[in-house]
This record gives sequence, C-alpha cells and structure tokens, in this order.
Amino acid sequence: MSAAIAKSRIVLLGPPGAGKGTQAAALIEALGIPHVSTGDMLRAAVKAGTPVGLQAKAVMDSGELVSDEIVIGIAGERLSEDDAKEGFLLDGFPRTLAQADALEKLLDRLGVELDCCLALTVENEAVVQRLLKRAEIEGRADDNEETIRERMRVYDAETAPLLEFYGGRDRLIEADGMGTIEEVGERIRKSLNS
Ligand code: AMP
Repeated sequence: MSAAIAKSRIVLLGPPGAGKGTQAAALIEALGIPHVSTGDMLRAAVKAGTPVGLQAKAVMDSGELVSDEIVIGIAGERLSEDDAKEGFLLDGFPRTLAQADALEKLLDRLGVELDCCLALTVENEAVVQRLLKRAEIEGRADDNEETIRERMRVYDAETAPLLEFYGGRDRLIEADGMGTIEEVGERIRKSLNS
C-alpha cells in the first residue's frame, strides 16, 4: 500500500464479518498508526479477568453491545496514549451514536480531528458465510449462527446510523468489501487517496 495516503485518523466501519480486522492489519502497516480495536481490548480484559472483563463477557458472548460507558472509557484511555497522537485506526468503535458523539468530544479535547470514516460495504449472506467459516477456524464464543444473526441485527439497529452521522459531516468514504483481500485492499487505498 502506498505511503501517499494522507489520512491518519480513521474510523473503520462495517458489519461483523466485513473483513475489518484483515484490512485494518494492512492499513496500520502502510500508515504506521496504531490499531485501536475495542473488541481486542475487551477480549484481553476478559482473558485477564479484570472487572471490565467480568462485566463484558456475557454481553459479548450473546452478540449484544457492551455498555457505552465502558467502551467510551477504554477507547478514550487508549486514544490519549502517546502513540495515538499522530494517528490511529479505530476498529469496532464507535458502534452507537452516543459513542460517535463521545469520540467527537474526546478528539476535540485532544485538539485533533477525524480524517474519515471508512465504511466497508458487503452483502449480508456473504457476511454470514464468512463468520461461520471464521467460527470454525478461530472457535470464537460469539460466532455461532444465532449470535451472528444477533450481531447483524445489532449492527443494523445501532451502528448503521453512523453512516449517516459521518456522511452528514462529509467524512464518509465507502469501499466495496466484497472480493479478495487484495482487491478490497486496493479499493480502500484508492478511496483513501481520492
Ligand atoms: P469485535 O471484535 O469488534 O467484533 O467486538 C466483539 C464484541 O465486543 C462485540 O460483539 C461487542 O459485544 C463488544 N464490543 C466491541 N466494541 C464495542 C463497542 N464499540 N461498543 C459496544 N460493544 C463493543
């Protein structure tokens, strides 16, 4: 991926299974910015048995959203660290309008602005198939079919409105998430450069 991409404060948005994690890995390498995934941070908290982890585990296993208060807290702490000063790729946060509002306020306080919200668009059934495959490979507790459907429902109800939120602020960049990892990566690179 070319180093010409000028954007460095990015929210990556897309339904579960859209390939956000894979594309995030390529992007952070190309842009030299930290990958800030609230899902990863919550899974680490669950593993470590912290109070946040204990609270979050059952919610995560059911495919529901952890409370805004908790995720706004952990995302805020992470974005305030030194290595996020020059940029970051937010993956899985914000997921609600309240979180998006909180992010605006946090960035305001830090004296920086979001460059864009990069949204990966995919077909729903393809996403379900991707997730079922990933469930087999990774054995994630939140990847059985029932939970997958619930996570989709939650995405449509709570997270999809963020497309309008960022669109209305002229910050939305959409990229087709269907195709091979390389094809999608190339589309992302093009859309971030335009
Ligand atoms: P992910 O790895 O991003 O799919 O996140 C896994 C799970 O962690 C989600 O299904 C939620 O239960 C929880 N989670 C991660 N990020 C957030 C967030 N921003 N708001 C609420 N819950 C979250």
